[in-house]
Amino acid sequence: MTRITPGQEKKDRTGSVLVVGSGIGGMQASLDLADSGLLVHLINDEPSIGGTMSRLDKTFPTGDCAMCMISPRMVESSRHANIKLHTMAKVSKVEGEEGNFTATIEQKARYVDADKCTGCGACEEKCPSRVLDVFNQGLSNRRAIYALFPQAVPNTRAIDSKYCLYLNKGVCRKCEKVCDADAINFEDKDEQIELKVGSIILTPGLKTYSPEIRQEFGYGRIKNVVTSLQFERLLSASGPCGGTVERPFDGRHPKKIAWIQCVGSRNSHNSNPWCSSVCCMYAAKQSIIAKEHDPDVDATVFYMEIRAFGKDFDKYIDKAKNDSGVVYKRAMVSEIVEDTETGDLVIHYVGDDGKLVNDTYDLAVLSIGFEPREDSSEFSEIFGIETDEYGFAQTSKLRPIETSRKGIYVAGTYQGPKDIPETVIQGSGSAAVAMSLLGESRGTQVEEVVLPPEKDISEEEPKIGVFVCHCGVNIAGAVDVQKVADIASKESGVTHSETIIYACAPDGQQKIRELIQEKGLNRVVVASCTPRTHSPLFQDTIREVGLNRFLFELADIREQCSWCHSDNHDKATEKAIDIVNMNIAKTRLLDPVSSNSVGVTHSVLILGGGVAGMTAALSIAEQGYGVYLVEKDKELGGLLRRVRRNIEGDDIQSFLTDTIDKVTSNPAISLHLGTTVSDTDGFVGNFETKLDNGQVVKHGAVLIATGGIEYVPHQYQYENSEKIVTQRDFEDIISDKTPSPDDTIVMIQCVGSREEPENYCSRICCQDALKNAIAVKERSPDTQVVILYRDMRAYGLKEMFYKQARDLGVLFFQFEPDNKPEVTSGENGIKVKIDDKILGKEIVIDADYVVLSTGLRPHPDTEKVAKAYKLTCNLDGFFLEAHVKLRPVDFPSEGYFLAGLAHAPKNIDETISQSLAAAGRVGALLSHEKLTVSGIISKHNRDICMSCLACFRACPFGSPYIDEEGRISHNEIKCTGCGICAGVCPAKAFQVNYFRDDQITAMIDAATEID
Ligand SMILES: Cc1cc2nc3c(=O)[nH]c(=O)nc-3n(C[C@H](O)[C@H](O)[C@H](O)COP(=O)(O)OP(=O)(O)OC[C@H]3O[C@@H](n4cnc5c(N)ncnc54)[C@H](O)[C@@H]3O)c2cc1C
Repeated sequence: MTRITPGQEKKDRTGSVLVVGSGIGGMQASLDLADSGLLVHLINDEPSIGGTMSRLDKTFPTGDCAMCMISPRMVESSRHANIKLHTMAKVSKVEGEEGNFTATIEQKARYVDADKCTGCGACEEKCPSRVLDVFNQGLSNRRAIYALFPQAVPNTRAIDSKYCLYLNKGVCRKCEKVCDADAINFEDKDEQIELKVGSIILTPGLKTYSPEIRQEFGYGRIKNVVTSLQFERLLSASGPCGGTVERPFDGRHPKKIAWIQCVGSRNSHNSNPWCSSVCCMYAAKQSIIAKEHDPDVDATVFYMEIRAFGKDFDKYIDKAKNDSGVVYKRAMVSEIVEDTETGDLVIHYVGDDGKLVNDTYDLAVLSIGFEPREDSSEFSEIFGIETDEYGFAQTSKLRPIETSRKGIYVAGTYQGPKDIPETVIQGSGSAAVAMSLLGESRGTQVEEVVLPPEKDISEEEPKIGVFVCHCGVNIAGAVDVQKVADIASKESGVTHSETIIYACAPDGQQKIRELIQEKGLNRVVVASCTPRTHSPLFQDTIREVGLNRFLFELADIREQCSWCHSDNHDKATEKAIDIVNMNIAKTRLLDPVSSNSVGVTHSVLILGGGVAGMTAALSIAEQGYGVYLVEKDKELGGLLRRVRRNIEGDDIQSFLTDTIDKVTSNPAISLHLGTTVSDTDGFVGNFETKLDNGQVVKHGAVLIATGGIEYVPHQYQYENSEKIVTQRDFEDIISDKTPSPDDTIVMIQCVGSREEPENYCSRICCQDALKNAIAVKERSPDTQVVILYRDMRAYGLKEMFYKQARDLGVLFFQFEPDNKPEVTSGENGIKVKIDDKILGKEIVIDADYVVLSTGLRPHPDTEKVAKAYKLTCNLDGFFLEAHVKLRPVDFPSEGYFLAGLAHAPKNIDETISQSLAAAGRVGALLSHEKLTVSGIISKHNRDICMSCLACFRACPFGSPYIDEEGRISHNEIKCTGCGICAGVCPAKAFQVNYFRDDQITAMIDAATEID
C-alpha cells in the first residue's frame, strides 16, 4: 500500500494555511489543520475570535450553553503551537496559486500591547467614552477601550479609535494612568504584513437581516420588538440584563412573547428569497429557554412551515410543544401595533377560520434570517472567487467545499445558511481538502512544543490551590462563591483559595499558572462547570507550569448545582461547599499519572462503499495514507446507484462512474467488494480487522459509512397498483417517458417519516418531490402535479426550487398527520381524497399516478456493526456521534469516525461534506507517528490477583488476558478505564488511575461527614 512520508516539502508547496474568519467553522478547520502538522494563520476582523456562536445563549437541540462549548475551542485555538492568531485583521490582496499564495494582511492598531495586558479591565472602568455595544446588539453600552465579551480571546482590551477621546481630541489618557501593566500604547500603528501560505480557507460567516425594512413589524420604531439575536443576548447570563429577560420599553419581565418566523427569509419581494435554515429551530430553542427562565411565560410561534429537518429536530419541536407548552400558530402576521402608553404590542394575523385576529403580547421576537455580508463582493474580488447571484460563495453540489479558485476552500455560512454542526463539518471538510493539497508539506513550517519537565512532588505534602469560578452570574447568581472559597481555605492541605470571574478565560488561567508558581501549589481544584468540556483545558494549564495533568480536580458546581438549584441560594451554596470539599478530599490523595504512547498504523478501514465511503477514501488516500475500503455489495455506489439527477440538475450517474473509477485506480486504496468484517480487535492507532474473506488488515482508524436504505411503503395502496409508486420509481418512469398533458400526478409527502415509531424527517423527500414535479412541468406544462405535504422542507437555497415549482403551476395542499389523504384504487382508477383547509372542503382528485415520498431508514446491519465496534445509536437507530454540535463525525471512542447516512438522513452534498470532514479528522489522527493514550486506565496488581477470571469475563475490551503462566495479565493499551474490572475484582487487584477506591471513599467520607 502506497504511503507518502510527511515532512518532505515536495513540489514546493507551503506547509501553512490561511483561515479567514474565526467563528466555529474557522476554528474547527484551524484545529484540524494544526493537529495534522500544518501551520495555520487564523485571522479575524474583530478583536476576539468566536464569531456568531459567542453571541448565542444556548443551542438547539441539546440546550447546551454556547459559550461553554465555544470557550474551550477559543482557548485551544489560541494556545495551539501550530496556530498563529491575527485579530483585528483583514486580507487585502491575494497573489499566487494553489500551493503557494502570498496574502497581504491589513493589521489594525489595537493600542493595547497584547504581551503586557493582563486583561484586568481597570482601564475599561475608567474610560469615559460610552459607545453602543454592537456585540450586545445595541441593547447596552460599552466603553471605547473594551473586550468584545468577557471570555474574549485573546483576553486583551482594544481601543476603538473611532470613539477614543485621546485619539480623536487629544484629551483623556485615563486608561493609561490606571494600567499597572503599562500596556496602553497610543503610538500603535496599522500594519501591513505578508503571509506565504499553501492554501486558504474562507469562513467569514454572514450577516443577519436588518428588519427595519419590514415597517409593518415596527423594528427600530417599537421598543419591544427585538430581533432573535437580541433575544439571545437578553437570555444570556453575560448579556445586557445578566440573563433575566427584560423588555427594552420598561425593564419589565415579559409574560407573553411572540416569535415571528421568516423575517428576512423566503420572500423575494421585500427581503431574501432563500430559507435561512436555522430560524425554526432557534425559535423553538428560545421559546423553551424563555419558559425555563420563567414558567409563567406564554410563548407563541407564528410560522408558515416548520423546517425541523436535522437529526432529532422534530423531537425538539415536539418537546417545545408538548413539554414546554409553546403554542405554534400557522399564520402570517400582517402587522404589529404598539400601545404607546404600556409598550404592549397588538399583533394582527389571520386565524384558522380565515378571520383577522388581534392579540396582545408583551414582547415580539423577529426570527431574522441570514444574508451575505455587505462586503461580500469586495471579499470575492480580493480572493478572486466567484459568488452566486446572492453573494454566497459559489460551490458545486458535488464539490461543496471548493471555490472557483484552486487552493481556496470555503466552510460555514458563507457557503449558504447552516447551523453549527454543519459548519463544523465543513470546517473539518475544508481542512481535509487542504491536507490533501499540502499533505506532502506537513511538518515543514511548525515548531515542536516544549513543555517544562514535570516536577517531582512525591516527597511533598499536599499544597492545594482552590479556585471557585463565578462563571459570570451562571454560578455566582445562585451560589455564594466567596463563602465556598472561604470554607475551602480552611480544609486541610489547602494552601490557597480564592474566587475567579471566569476561570476558563485566558486571564483566569494565567492567574492559576502564576499562583502555582508563586505559592508552590502541587495540586489544584477548580470549582466551575462540567469536567466534560473543561477538564482538559485546566489540565493543560497546570501542565504548562510543570505539574502532572492528573494533579487536578474539577468540582462541578454549575451543571450539578447552580443551574439546577437556582431557586434556592442557601441550599445551592451549601451543596457547592459539599461538592468542593469532596473534591479537595480526593485531591489530597492524587498522584501523578503517566500516559503510555503507542505507534500509529497509517491507514484506515472504511466500512461502506457508497458516496460517503468513497469520498472519504479518496481524500484520505490523497492525504498520503492507506485505505481499506470494505463494501458488502459486489458493487460500489450504494443508494446513489438509483439516483439520476439531484435537484440542481447534476448528472449523478456520471459523477458516480467518475468517483468509482478514481477509487478503483487509486493505488493507496485497497478495495474489498462483497466483503464484510468478521472480527475486530485493537485500539486507536492500532486496530486489527479480520474480513470474512479471511484476510487480516491492520489500520489506525475506523470510519463507519454504512449508509441506510429506502423505506418500502405499505400505506396509500402502494401494493395494489402499479400506478402508485415511490419517487425513485417515478424518476425512472419520467426519464423513459414524458407524462401526458392530460395526466394528473399526486405526490404524498412524509410517507413513513415524522410519525411514531419513525418520528424523524428523512430530509431528502421534499426536494425529491420538487425535483420530479419540476421535471414533469418543464417537459409537459399541462400535466397537473399536486403535492400533498405537511411542511415543505425546502431549506436553505432549495427554497428557490419550491418557488420554481409554484411558478410552474404545481399545486400544494397541506394536511395534518391526523387527517391524512385517503387513496383508493379500483375499477374507476385512483382517487385521492383530502380535506383542504383553505377551501374549507373535501377535494377528490382523480390521479393517473400517486407518487409516495418515502423516507430513509438506518441500514439493517447498523445494530450488528454497532455491537461489533461497541458504538451506540440514537432512538431512531442511526449512529450516535460524540457530540451533536462540536464532534459530529467522531464517535466517543477514540479512533472511530462516522459519515453519511449512517449518521442521519442527508443530501448528496451534505454527505460529501461530512465524508470530507471525517477524512480530515482521520487524517489529523494518522499524521501522528505516536499517540499518547489516556492515563485513566486500570492498573493491575499481579501480587494480589487470584486469577479468578472475573475481570477476564467482564471486560468488554479484552484487556485482561491469560498469560503464558496461565495467570491474568493486563494489556493497558486496550484498557479504556471503564472500571468494570475494578468493580468485579474480589481481591481489589484492579484500581483505576485517578479513581482509586481510597480516592472515591475520601470523597464519600467528606460528603457524609457531620459538622
Ligand atoms: C439568532 C441566531 C441563533 C442561532 N442559534 C443556533 C443554535 O441554537 N444552534 C445552531 O446550530 N446554530 C445556531 N445559529 C447558527 C450559528 O450561529 C451559525 O451556523 C454558526 O455560528 C456559523 O459559523 P461560521 O463560522 O460560519 O460564521 P461566524 O460565526 O459568523 O464567524 C465568522 C467570523 O469571521 C469574521 N470575518 C468576517 N469577514 C472577515 C474578513 N474579511 N476578515 C477576517 N474576518 C472576517 C467575522 O467577524 C466572524 O467573527 C444561530 C444563528 C443566529 C443568528
